[in-house]
Amino acid sequence: MSLKALLKNLISLNGSIPVDKFMEVVVPYYYQNSKPFGKKGDFITAPEVSQMFGEMIGIWCANHWFNKGQNKFTLVEIGGGNGTLMADLLRGTKNIKGFHDSIEQIVMVEISQALKEKQKSKILFSNICWYNDLKELDSENCIVICNEFFDALPIKQFIKEQGGFKEVHIGLKDDEFEFVTKSISSDLDELCRDGGIVEKSESSIRYAEVIKQKIGSKGAALIIDYGYIGPSYKSTLQALKSHKFHNVLKEIGEADITAHVDFKSLAKVFDSFKADIIPQGDFLIRWGIMARAAMLIDNGADPKEIHEALARLINNDQMGQLFKVLEIISL
Ligand code: SAH
Repeated sequence: MSLKALLKNLISLNGSIPVDKFMEVVVPYYYQNSKPFGKKGDFITAPEVSQMFGEMIGIWCANHWFNKGQNKFTLVEIGGGNGTLMADLLRGTKNIKGFHDSIEQIVMVEISQALKEKQKSKILFSNICWYNDLKELDSENCIVICNEFFDALPIKQFIKEQGGFKEVHIGLKDDEFEFVTKSISSDLDELCRDGGIVEKSESSIRYAEVIKQKIGSKGAALIIDYGYIGPSYKSTLQALKSHKFHNVLKEIGEADITAHVDFKSLAKVFDSFKADIIPQGDFLIRWGIMARAAMLIDNGADPKEIHEALARLINNDQMGQLFKVLEIISL
């Protein structure tokens, strides 16, 4: 059955479906069937912009491992895309004495079979395995990283209409998908004006709870994504196709559908940890991206290319501010 037919079926059963159900069906289909990343894809992520991104994350992981007593650990990446970040992380840390030997296993959590295959060809490590869901992993003391994973998880949307909230759904009119609103059983306790939208991602909170278990008492996690701190009261649901914003309800399955990440709600899950939200630009500068850029130029890299990549990753009008890093460290 085609994706469109499947959605129509679901909608005809219930009259409409909520936004989270829509994303739950569409997002995995997209990652399985499309070529999301790169110039020819729909969007470019930080690891695809420059090797420096994965290298800085590698240094962060090694620093944590060193500070916590150089114990054995499991290195986990969720939603690793093409495998570029993990490959750069491993290459960038190979000269840190004892670090690779302390990685008991690498676990890649990935739903897309097509991307699993890409990762298999790119990440060379003796003990590496793949899971569909982090829940399947039976291990504590993990260092968990994810870049642009949480934005792919389903959200619910509630809109304030005439003083009360309704849930945003997707319905069908004359064979075309459209946004509709449905009454909800109990009103939300949120201060916003009529027309304001509140977004909630139960899936993100559930996933963060699982990450929390896997960190245990010695591990750490980095959650990197575009998002906001505190409620935005507007819709952040978006679709990207060939590097341009696209109508969420058109050519469904051919565009990348995401929502901005609610960092404050995610950070709350890690109440018993040190959990800081830092703009991506500050994070990368703190971990030495400037020195690394200078080193790459000294070693013969094209200075223009390096400067462009650096600007893209750290400048406030590019990825530096909108993208945030939630840094979680066991106390
Ligand atoms: N981290 C990569 C890719 C980001 S795109 C990068 O920065 O380039 C999102 C990734 O998350 C893809 O690999 C996608 O297949 C994966 N993904 C989406 N939903 C997922 C889920 N529920 N479980 C595991 N992986 C998921």
